[in-house]
Amino acid sequence: MHIGIAGVGLVGRVLALNLLRQGHTLTLFDEDTAYGDNAAGMTAAGMLAVFAELESAESDIFEHGKRSIALWPGLLEQLDILDAYQQEGSIITAHPQDYKELEHFIETLKSKVEEATEIELLDKVGITELEPDLEQHSKAFFIPHEGQVDAQRFMKVSSDYLLSHPNVIWHQEIKVDEVKEGQICFAGVCEPFDWVFDARGLGASAQVEDLRGIRGEVFWLDAPEVNISRPTRMLHPRYKIYIVPRPNHRYIIGATEIESEDKSPMSVRSSLELLSAVYSMHSGFAEARIVKMVTNCRPTLKDNLPAITQGEKLTRINGLYRHGYLLAPAIVEEALNKGILK
Ligand SMILES: Cc1cc2nc3c(=O)[nH]c(=O)nc-3n(C[C@H](O)[C@H](O)[C@H](O)COP(=O)(O)OP(=O)(O)OC[C@H]3O[C@@H](n4cnc5c(N)ncnc54)[C@H](O)[C@@H]3O)c2cc1C
Repeated sequence: MHIGIAGVGLVGRVLALNLLRQGHTLTLFDEDTAYGDNAAGMTAAGMLAVFAELESAESDIFEHGKRSIALWPGLLEQLDILDAYQQEGSIITAHPQDYKELEHFIETLKSKVEEATEIELLDKVGITELEPDLEQHSKAFFIPHEGQVDAQRFMKVSSDYLLSHPNVIWHQEIKVDEVKEGQICFAGVCEPFDWVFDARGLGASAQVEDLRGIRGEVFWLDAPEVNISRPTRMLHPRYKIYIVPRPNHRYIIGATEIESEDKSPMSVRSSLELLSAVYSMHSGFAEARIVKMVTNCRPTLKDNLPAITQGEKLTRINGLYRHGYLLAPAIVEEALNKGILK
């Protein structure tokens, strides 16, 4: 089939990789360049927090998350970057005055899915064994099976792969005005395809009802004095921050969650909250260097859940909210099984 994909962010790329494996020919459209920063998929920390996200999500997310964790290695192997995947568990901790919240958080997870009983309580000794740099903490939980994808590496290498693939045409910096049954419309023309996918994320809001953006801000820090190897969260009554380690002592610190479609630079309030929280987690962050601050918006539907909608020769996938990396492979698999593969 000759398939058109509007939007080559996270979902568009996961779709493209799957469809190429099945032997289809693709034409991709994105209003950004192939290496641009527009996609939320480029801003994401790439955490695969299948348990930790359950606190504010449905158990559907858990099942899709487990399936995605099983599918990610195959996608990354296709790009020859299996080392961009890590699944060594994650840590959640809190300051002593917030231990009650921490316990409540874990109890909520346990009440939602049976597998959450695998979450392990760690004392100071346990924490130090697992992550020596977090020795100042005396209580934490270890969540096995969680992990991360190096999101920016995935985005970059998938650009290289798709741009050089003989069965792919990529129209860069083309704003798609409409995606309709079997057609993608831009600059006053509608190009016909055997099947089309609308994967424009927030850019599809004119055609997807109740789609909104949720602003998220992250810091990138170089912290030679910090040695944390797993995604680590700190619960706090007002915000939840996470530290996601990348090679060479680089850390992504995130993320705010603000009901707004404003993509302007980070606010003073957010920067104070994120940086003071991260410094309180590990004093080695005091001398870290701020590499960059990034803001983007998560495409979110009314119920904060992803949706696949299908018409004749048309599939729309949207609403991946804060769970794009956690869910995209499974959601795309489901969409393909529902649609053109039948
Ligand atoms: C700060 C932050 C941190 C995050 N951290 C995580 C995390 O740790 N784990 C996790 O699972 N998820 C995380 N996410 C969520 C994840 O990034 C999103 O759920 C995911 O990127 C959504 O994928 P998408 O393909 O629908 O949208 P996007 O990735 O935004 O892609 C949409 C693409 O469509 C293009 N486009 C839009 N409009 C048009 C148009 N009219 N014409 C042509 N092209 C168009 C855009 O340029 C873009 O390339 C995070 C998000 C943010 C903002």
